[in-house]
Amino acid sequence: MGAPWIARYDSARCPADAEAISNIDRPPANHRGGHGVTTRRDFLGGASAFAGAVFVGCELMPPHAHAQPPGAPRRREVVVNGRRVKTVDIHAHCAFPETMKMMGREVRPQSLVMAPDRIRAMDAQGIDIEALSINPYWYKADRDVAAALIKLQNEKLAELVAAQPDRFVAFATMALQHPDLAVEQIEYGVKKLGLRGVSVGGSVEGMELADPKFHPVWAKCEELGCLIFIHPVGTKELEPRLHGNGGLDNTIGNPLETTLALSHLIYEGTLDRFPGLKICAAHGGGYLPSYAGRSDQGCLTFPDRCPGPKDGPLKKKPTEYLRQLYYDNIMFTPEAMRHLAAEVGSSQLVVGTDYPYPWTKTAVDLVLATPGLSDAERVAMLGGTASRLLGIKA
Ligand SMILES: [Zn+2]
Repeated sequence: MGAPWIARYDSARCPADAEAISNIDRPPANHRGGHGVTTRRDFLGGASAFAGAVFVGCELMPPHAHAQPPGAPRRREVVVNGRRVKTVDIHAHCAFPETMKMMGREVRPQSLVMAPDRIRAMDAQGIDIEALSINPYWYKADRDVAAALIKLQNEKLAELVAAQPDRFVAFATMALQHPDLAVEQIEYGVKKLGLRGVSVGGSVEGMELADPKFHPVWAKCEELGCLIFIHPVGTKELEPRLHGNGGLDNTIGNPLETTLALSHLIYEGTLDRFPGLKICAAHGGGYLPSYAGRSDQGCLTFPDRCPGPKDGPLKKKPTEYLRQLYYDNIMFTPEAMRHLAAEVGSSQLVVGTDYPYPWTKTAVDLVLATPGLSDAERVAMLGGTASRLLGIKA
């Protein structure tokens, strides 16, 4: 038995409410009703406050609205103020057994392997397009294995996307541990295979992304204008502190790694050296945007600790760099979204679900529930910004 608040959170998944919020009355297939709408209202906070939306509780839906033909789930179409929005999930995972086998590994969970239930989940959550990424498990691989693995993996990603181009795009993978090889892999993946950017871990076998070893890779990404999606691979160095209850290696270790990766990219001058880099950080950028003032104040208080890169001081205040990065919205509360938008600008936020990891089913609702945004800002967050970054046609 979980704690009472766990049940409360779970009952907050009332898709009918979400439909009402997005201003359409199309009940999803898995809606069963029968749970308290108050919890949903609590969860969504200021959901009813934004323009163009009407809040309707589950129990207000007519009984026939819940009926669905078996096995025929309806696709949730997200509408903001009468306008259909193409939603893009920038943080969705997949994996291929064939390539994981090359590292002696098995796919876990199995839901990482693409199957028809993927589309059903997207339809239920109101996700039109997933930008697929694969978390790196090949950073230990020697050059030959890494070359063969990435070639096959990127070709499989391209195949997968080609089969359903209206529902998927994908980030190219690359063997960052061999930067010169990674440069070739980006070129092939983006130019020849039509992949829409690159995904990278938050560190590479203990090396920071800001390490000069990776400069040629960032130079290539900047040249091609491709988005870099940074996903943490964990903070193994802190394992002795993160064991025990709470899954701290994930809940804290992952956002902490993103915080470290972004901070090094700022303080080591990587973002100055490659000002055209387009970077999207997972999990709302970790902790960095939540306590950004300390990054600036640290440099004011101890200027000798912020010397900038070798060729001069940092060009901007640390917090100013945060306003040029992008962030997914795996943050769980409207207040967290509101705060991140206030710190970095609403133009920098995009939708992320972490599918198939069951962190959230309400990424779209979170955008709709965030207080203080205009319709245009919501449309941009739901898909406009990600479409621009990933070259998806409107
Ligand atoms: Zn993830």
